Amino acid sequence: MSFKKIAKRGIQHLAATFGQHTRSHKEPQLLTLMYHRILPKQDPRTHLEEPGMIVSPETFKMHMSLVKQYFEILPLSLWIKRKQNGEMLPAHCCAITFDDGWADNYEFAYPILQELNIPATIFLVSDMIDTDQLFWPERLAHILTDIALTCPEQWEHPDLAWLTDNKFNYTFTTAPPDQDQLSEIINSAKALRDEEIHRRINKIETELQLKNKPHPSLLSWQQMSEMCTSGLIEAGGHTCHHIRLNTGQDETTLEQEIIQCKSQIEAQLGQTVDTFCYPNGDYSPRAVELVKQHYQCAVTTNKGWNTTSSDQYLLNRIGVHEDISYDKTAFLARLSGWL
Ligand SMILES: [Zn+2]
Repeated sequence: MSFKKIAKRGIQHLAATFGQHTRSHKEPQLLTLMYHRILPKQDPRTHLEEPGMIVSPETFKMHMSLVKQYFEILPLSLWIKRKQNGEMLPAHCCAITFDDGWADNYEFAYPILQELNIPATIFLVSDMIDTDQLFWPERLAHILTDIALTCPEQWEHPDLAWLTDNKFNYTFTTAPPDQDQLSEIINSAKALRDEEIHRRINKIETELQLKNKPHPSLLSWQQMSEMCTSGLIEAGGHTCHHIRLNTGQDETTLEQEIIQCKSQIEAQLGQTVDTFCYPNGDYSPRAVELVKQHYQCAVTTNKGWNTTSSDQYLLNRIGVHEDISYDKTAFLARLSGWL
Protein backbone atom coordinates (compact mmCIF):
# COMPACT_ATOMS: atom_id res chain seq x y z
CA MET A 1 0.00 0.00 0.00
CA SER A 2 1.41 3.42 -0.94
CA PHE A 3 1.99 6.11 1.69
CA LYS A 4 -0.86 8.15 0.19
CA LYS A 5 -3.29 5.24 0.56
CA ILE A 6 -2.17 4.54 4.14
CA ALA A 7 -2.62 8.24 5.04
CA LYS A 8 -6.09 8.30 3.42
CA ARG A 9 -7.12 5.17 5.29
CA GLY A 10 -5.88 6.72 8.55
CA ILE A 11 -8.00 9.83 8.00
CA GLN A 12 -11.00 7.66 7.13
CA HIS A 13 -10.58 5.76 10.41
CA LEU A 14 -10.44 9.02 12.39
CA ALA A 15 -13.53 10.40 10.62
CA ALA A 16 -15.41 7.10 11.07
CA THR A 17 -14.56 7.01 14.79
CA PHE A 18 -14.92 10.67 15.80
CA GLY A 19 -17.13 12.21 13.07
CA GLN A 20 -20.36 14.13 13.56
CA HIS A 21 -22.43 10.93 13.81
CA THR A 22 -20.65 9.96 17.05
CA ARG A 23 -21.05 13.30 18.87
CA SER A 24 -23.78 15.01 20.84
CA HIS A 25 -25.02 18.37 19.57
CA LYS A 26 -27.01 21.30 20.96
CA GLU A 27 -29.56 21.15 18.14
CA PRO A 28 -31.17 18.03 16.56
CA GLN A 29 -29.23 17.01 13.46
CA LEU A 30 -30.51 15.77 10.12
CA LEU A 31 -28.28 13.81 7.79
CA THR A 32 -29.82 13.39 4.34
CA LEU A 33 -28.22 10.72 2.18
CA MET A 34 -28.36 11.07 -1.61
CA TYR A 35 -28.45 7.94 -3.76
CA HIS A 36 -29.17 7.53 -7.47
CA ARG A 37 -28.94 3.97 -8.80
CA ILE A 38 -28.66 0.63 -7.02
CA LEU A 39 -27.20 -1.88 -9.50
CA PRO A 40 -25.22 -5.12 -9.20
CA LYS A 41 -21.63 -4.77 -10.41
CA GLN A 42 -22.18 -7.01 -13.45
CA ASP A 43 -25.50 -5.47 -14.53
CA PRO A 44 -25.27 -4.29 -18.17
CA ARG A 45 -27.00 -1.04 -17.17
CA THR A 46 -23.82 0.03 -15.35
CA HIS A 47 -22.07 0.41 -18.73
CA LEU A 48 -23.90 3.60 -19.62
CA GLU A 49 -23.52 5.11 -16.18
CA GLU A 50 -21.02 7.33 -14.38
CA PRO A 51 -19.41 5.73 -11.30
CA GLY A 52 -20.73 8.57 -9.14
CA MET A 53 -24.29 7.35 -9.73
CA ILE A 54 -24.09 3.73 -8.57
CA VAL A 55 -24.07 1.70 -5.35
CA SER A 56 -24.28 -2.12 -5.43
CA PRO A 57 -27.13 -3.85 -3.54
CA GLU A 58 -24.67 -5.50 -1.08
CA THR A 59 -23.05 -2.16 -0.27
CA PHE A 60 -26.46 -0.47 0.03
CA LYS A 61 -27.58 -3.11 2.54
CA MET A 62 -24.41 -2.55 4.58
CA HIS A 63 -25.08 1.22 4.52
CA MET A 64 -28.66 0.82 5.70
CA SER A 65 -27.68 -1.54 8.55
CA LEU A 66 -25.06 0.96 9.74
CA VAL A 67 -27.40 3.94 9.45
CA LYS A 68 -29.88 2.08 11.66
CA GLN A 69 -27.20 1.71 14.33
CA TYR A 70 -26.34 5.42 14.48
CA PHE A 71 -29.57 7.23 13.55
CA GLU A 72 -33.31 7.32 13.84
CA ILE A 73 -34.55 7.19 10.25
CA LEU A 74 -37.54 9.31 9.25
CA PRO A 75 -39.07 10.18 5.87
CA LEU A 76 -37.79 13.64 4.93
CA SER A 77 -41.29 15.17 4.89
CA LEU A 78 -41.99 13.88 8.41
CA TRP A 79 -38.81 15.45 9.85
CA ILE A 80 -39.89 18.79 8.33
CA LYS A 81 -43.46 18.42 9.58
CA ARG A 82 -42.30 17.67 13.14
CA LYS A 83 -39.91 20.61 13.03
CA GLN A 84 -42.67 22.96 11.84
CA ASN A 85 -45.02 21.72 14.57
CA GLY A 86 -42.34 22.25 17.22
CA GLU A 87 -42.38 18.52 18.08
CA MET A 88 -39.42 16.65 19.57
CA LEU A 89 -36.89 15.52 16.99
CA PRO A 90 -34.29 12.79 17.35
CA ALA A 91 -30.78 14.08 18.21
CA HIS A 92 -29.38 12.20 15.20
CA CYS A 93 -31.88 11.70 12.39
CA CYS A 94 -31.26 10.39 8.89
CA ALA A 95 -33.44 10.71 5.77
CA ILE A 96 -32.73 8.45 2.78
CA THR A 97 -33.28 9.96 -0.67
CA PHE A 98 -33.00 8.71 -4.26
CA ASP A 99 -32.85 11.09 -7.23
CA ASP A 100 -34.48 10.69 -10.68
CA GLY A 101 -36.78 7.64 -10.28
CA TRP A 102 -34.72 4.71 -11.59
CA ALA A 103 -36.40 1.31 -12.01
CA ASP A 104 -33.45 -0.26 -10.17
CA ASN A 105 -34.63 1.52 -7.00
CA TYR A 106 -37.67 -0.76 -7.15
CA GLU A 107 -35.71 -3.87 -8.16
CA PHE A 108 -32.78 -3.65 -5.75
CA ALA A 109 -33.25 -0.93 -3.09
CA TYR A 110 -36.91 -1.45 -2.19
CA PRO A 111 -36.54 -5.12 -1.08
CA ILE A 112 -33.69 -4.08 1.26
CA LEU A 113 -35.67 -1.11 2.61
CA GLN A 114 -38.61 -3.46 3.23
CA GLU A 115 -36.45 -6.04 4.96
CA LEU A 116 -34.95 -3.43 7.30
CA ASN A 117 -38.15 -1.36 7.53
CA ILE A 118 -36.47 1.87 6.42
CA PRO A 119 -38.46 4.75 4.85
CA ALA A 120 -37.13 6.73 1.89
CA THR A 121 -38.01 9.50 -0.55
CA ILE A 122 -37.73 9.05 -4.32
CA PHE A 123 -37.55 12.29 -6.33
CA LEU A 124 -39.36 11.78 -9.65
CA VAL A 125 -38.91 13.46 -13.02
CA SER A 126 -42.64 13.42 -13.64
CA ASP A 127 -42.83 13.58 -17.47
CA MET A 128 -40.26 10.84 -17.92
CA ILE A 129 -41.59 8.26 -15.46
CA ASP A 130 -43.17 5.27 -17.21
CA THR A 131 -41.62 6.17 -20.58
CA ASP A 132 -38.66 4.75 -22.48
CA GLN A 133 -36.95 8.18 -22.41
CA LEU A 134 -33.45 8.52 -21.03
CA PHE A 135 -31.69 11.46 -19.43
CA TRP A 136 -29.20 13.17 -21.72
CA PRO A 137 -26.06 11.81 -19.97
CA GLU A 138 -27.21 8.22 -20.61
CA ARG A 139 -28.20 9.12 -24.19
CA LEU A 140 -24.74 10.59 -24.72
CA ALA A 141 -23.08 7.53 -23.17
CA HIS A 142 -25.13 5.31 -25.47
CA ILE A 143 -24.17 7.32 -28.56
CA LEU A 144 -20.44 7.18 -27.72
CA THR A 145 -20.56 3.46 -26.95
CA ASP A 146 -22.60 2.59 -30.01
CA ILE A 147 -20.38 4.52 -32.42
CA ALA A 148 -17.17 3.09 -30.93
CA LEU A 149 -18.43 -0.47 -31.19
CA THR A 150 -20.35 -0.43 -34.44
CA CYS A 151 -19.31 2.42 -36.74
CA PRO A 152 -16.13 4.26 -35.59
CA GLU A 153 -15.79 5.88 -39.03
CA GLN A 154 -18.64 8.15 -37.91
CA TRP A 155 -16.33 9.96 -35.45
CA GLU A 156 -15.58 12.26 -38.40
CA HIS A 157 -19.24 13.33 -38.62
CA PRO A 158 -19.60 17.11 -38.16
CA ASP A 159 -22.43 16.67 -35.64
CA LEU A 160 -19.91 15.02 -33.31
CA ALA A 161 -17.30 17.76 -33.59
CA TRP A 162 -18.31 19.35 -30.25
CA LEU A 163 -17.41 16.06 -28.54
CA THR A 164 -14.38 14.91 -30.51
CA ASP A 165 -12.22 18.03 -30.55
CA ASN A 166 -9.56 16.36 -28.41
CA LYS A 167 -10.23 18.12 -25.14
CA PHE A 168 -10.79 14.81 -23.33
CA ASN A 169 -8.43 12.21 -22.02
CA TYR A 170 -9.97 9.75 -24.47
CA THR A 171 -9.21 8.74 -28.03
CA PHE A 172 -12.31 8.28 -30.14
CA THR A 173 -11.64 4.85 -31.64
CA THR A 174 -13.23 1.40 -31.35
CA ALA A 175 -13.13 1.21 -27.53
CA PRO A 176 -16.08 2.81 -25.74
CA PRO A 177 -15.09 5.41 -23.11
CA ASP A 178 -14.75 3.91 -19.63
CA GLN A 179 -16.89 5.21 -16.76
CA ASP A 180 -14.37 7.86 -15.65
CA GLN A 181 -13.94 9.16 -19.19
CA LEU A 182 -17.72 9.28 -19.53
CA SER A 183 -17.92 11.42 -16.40
CA GLU A 184 -15.36 13.80 -17.85
CA ILE A 185 -17.25 14.13 -21.15
CA ILE A 186 -20.62 14.58 -19.40
CA ASN A 187 -19.25 17.21 -17.00
CA SER A 188 -17.75 19.12 -19.87
CA ALA A 189 -21.08 19.08 -21.76
CA LYS A 190 -22.74 20.69 -18.72
CA ALA A 191 -21.05 23.97 -19.68
CA LEU A 192 -23.83 24.22 -22.33
CA ARG A 193 -27.43 25.06 -21.48
CA ASP A 194 -29.84 22.11 -21.19
CA GLU A 195 -31.78 23.17 -24.33
CA GLU A 196 -28.54 23.28 -26.32
CA ILE A 197 -27.38 19.87 -25.06
CA HIS A 198 -30.75 18.37 -26.00
CA ARG A 199 -30.65 20.03 -29.43
CA ARG A 200 -27.19 18.65 -30.18
CA ILE A 201 -27.98 15.14 -28.93
CA ASN A 202 -31.28 15.09 -30.86
CA LYS A 203 -29.37 16.06 -33.98
CA ILE A 204 -26.84 13.26 -33.54
CA GLU A 205 -29.60 10.72 -32.92
CA THR A 206 -31.46 11.82 -36.05
CA GLU A 207 -28.52 12.30 -38.39
CA LEU A 208 -26.36 9.33 -37.45
CA GLN A 209 -27.46 5.77 -37.96
CA LEU A 210 -27.07 4.31 -34.48
CA LYS A 211 -27.30 0.52 -34.47
CA ASN A 212 -28.74 -0.25 -31.03
CA LYS A 213 -31.43 1.20 -28.81
CA PRO A 214 -30.73 1.53 -25.09
CA HIS A 215 -33.07 -0.14 -22.60
CA PRO A 216 -35.63 1.94 -20.70
CA SER A 217 -34.40 2.50 -17.15
CA LEU A 218 -37.02 4.49 -15.26
CA LEU A 219 -39.73 3.44 -12.82
CA SER A 220 -43.31 2.88 -13.92
CA TRP A 221 -46.16 4.60 -12.08
CA GLN A 222 -47.34 1.12 -11.10
CA GLN A 223 -44.04 0.33 -9.36
CA MET A 224 -44.00 3.72 -7.67
CA SER A 225 -47.61 3.33 -6.57
CA GLU A 226 -46.88 -0.11 -5.08
CA MET A 227 -43.95 1.30 -3.09
CA CYS A 228 -45.97 4.29 -1.86
CA THR A 229 -48.89 2.07 -0.83
CA SER A 230 -46.52 0.10 1.42
CA GLY A 231 -46.13 3.30 3.47
CA LEU A 232 -42.32 3.10 3.30
CA ILE A 233 -41.71 5.21 0.22
CA GLU A 234 -42.80 8.78 -0.50
CA ALA A 235 -42.54 10.62 -3.81
CA GLY A 236 -40.84 13.98 -4.16
CA GLY A 237 -40.63 16.38 -7.12
CA HIS A 238 -37.55 16.64 -9.37
CA THR A 239 -39.07 18.75 -12.20
CA CYS A 240 -40.93 17.45 -15.28
CA HIS A 241 -37.89 17.04 -17.57
CA HIS A 242 -34.81 17.24 -15.34
CA ILE A 243 -34.16 20.82 -16.38
CA ARG A 244 -31.50 22.68 -14.39
CA LEU A 245 -33.15 25.60 -12.60
CA ASN A 246 -30.19 27.97 -12.65
CA THR A 247 -30.16 31.69 -13.33
CA GLY A 248 -31.27 32.54 -16.84
CA GLN A 249 -34.07 30.00 -16.97
CA ASP A 250 -37.27 31.74 -18.16
CA GLU A 251 -40.30 32.17 -15.90
CA THR A 252 -42.63 29.92 -17.93
CA THR A 253 -40.17 27.03 -17.85
CA LEU A 254 -39.56 27.48 -14.12
CA GLU A 255 -43.30 27.46 -13.38
CA GLN A 256 -43.98 24.44 -15.56
CA GLU A 257 -41.07 22.41 -14.27
CA ILE A 258 -41.75 23.13 -10.59
CA ILE A 259 -45.53 23.34 -10.35
CA GLN A 260 -46.68 20.82 -12.98
CA CYS A 261 -44.25 18.24 -11.64
CA LYS A 262 -46.05 18.33 -8.30
CA SER A 263 -49.53 18.13 -9.80
CA GLN A 264 -48.59 15.28 -12.17
CA ILE A 265 -47.17 13.14 -9.38
CA GLU A 266 -50.08 13.87 -7.06
CA ALA A 267 -52.58 12.94 -9.80
CA GLN A 268 -50.75 9.66 -10.54
CA LEU A 269 -50.12 8.53 -6.99
CA GLY A 270 -52.98 10.14 -5.06
CA GLN A 271 -50.67 11.45 -2.35
CA THR A 272 -49.43 14.92 -1.47
CA VAL A 273 -45.94 15.81 -2.66
CA ASP A 274 -44.18 18.00 -0.09
CA THR A 275 -40.52 17.57 -0.97
CA PHE A 276 -38.50 18.85 -3.94
CA CYS A 277 -35.01 18.22 -5.28
CA TYR A 278 -33.17 20.69 -7.58
CA PRO A 279 -31.80 18.84 -10.67
CA ASN A 280 -28.00 18.77 -10.66
CA GLY A 281 -28.22 20.80 -7.43
CA ASP A 282 -28.74 24.03 -9.42
CA TYR A 283 -31.16 26.75 -8.33
CA SER A 284 -31.76 30.46 -8.89
CA PRO A 285 -33.37 32.74 -6.26
CA ARG A 286 -36.59 32.73 -8.34
CA ALA A 287 -36.61 28.91 -8.51
CA VAL A 288 -36.28 28.71 -4.72
CA GLU A 289 -39.12 31.25 -4.34
CA LEU A 290 -41.44 29.15 -6.53
CA VAL A 291 -40.49 25.95 -4.73
CA LYS A 292 -41.33 27.69 -1.41
CA GLN A 293 -44.81 28.47 -2.68
CA HIS A 294 -45.60 24.86 -3.58
CA TYR A 295 -43.51 22.50 -1.42
CA GLN A 296 -42.61 22.15 2.27
CA CYS A 297 -38.87 21.66 1.75
CA ALA A 298 -36.16 21.13 -0.87
CA VAL A 299 -32.80 19.40 -1.05
CA THR A 300 -29.62 20.48 -2.84
CA THR A 301 -26.38 18.66 -3.63
CA ASN A 302 -24.48 20.93 -1.21
CA LYS A 303 -22.47 18.69 1.06
CA GLY A 304 -23.13 18.67 4.79
CA TRP A 305 -25.54 17.99 7.62
CA ASN A 306 -28.59 20.05 8.61
CA THR A 307 -29.94 21.33 11.91
CA THR A 308 -33.34 22.66 12.90
CA SER A 309 -32.11 26.16 12.01
CA SER A 310 -30.99 25.21 8.48
CA ASP A 311 -32.90 26.71 5.55
CA GLN A 312 -35.43 23.97 4.78
CA TYR A 313 -35.51 24.95 1.09
CA LEU A 314 -31.74 24.53 0.72
CA LEU A 315 -31.06 21.36 2.68
CA ASN A 316 -27.61 19.82 2.46
CA ARG A 317 -27.04 16.19 1.58
CA ILE A 318 -24.21 13.70 1.60
CA GLY A 319 -23.91 11.98 -1.78
CA VAL A 320 -22.98 8.32 -1.68
CA HIS A 321 -21.59 6.08 -4.38
CA GLU A 322 -19.75 2.78 -4.46
CA ASP A 323 -16.18 4.05 -4.89
CA ILE A 324 -16.24 6.10 -1.68
CA SER A 325 -18.43 3.90 0.51
CA TYR A 326 -17.46 0.30 -0.28
CA ASP A 327 -16.81 -0.74 3.35
CA LYS A 328 -17.93 0.31 6.83
CA THR A 329 -15.00 2.64 7.51
CA ALA A 330 -15.27 4.38 4.13
CA PHE A 331 -19.05 4.84 4.52
CA LEU A 332 -18.89 6.16 8.10
CA ALA A 333 -16.05 8.49 7.10
CA ARG A 334 -18.20 9.79 4.22
CA LEU A 335 -21.25 10.46 6.36
CA SER A 336 -19.13 12.06 9.10
CA GLY A 337 -19.30 15.14 6.90
CA TRP A 338 -15.53 15.60 7.09
CA LEU A 339 -14.45 14.06 3.78
ZN1 LIG B 1 -31.38 14.21 -10.94
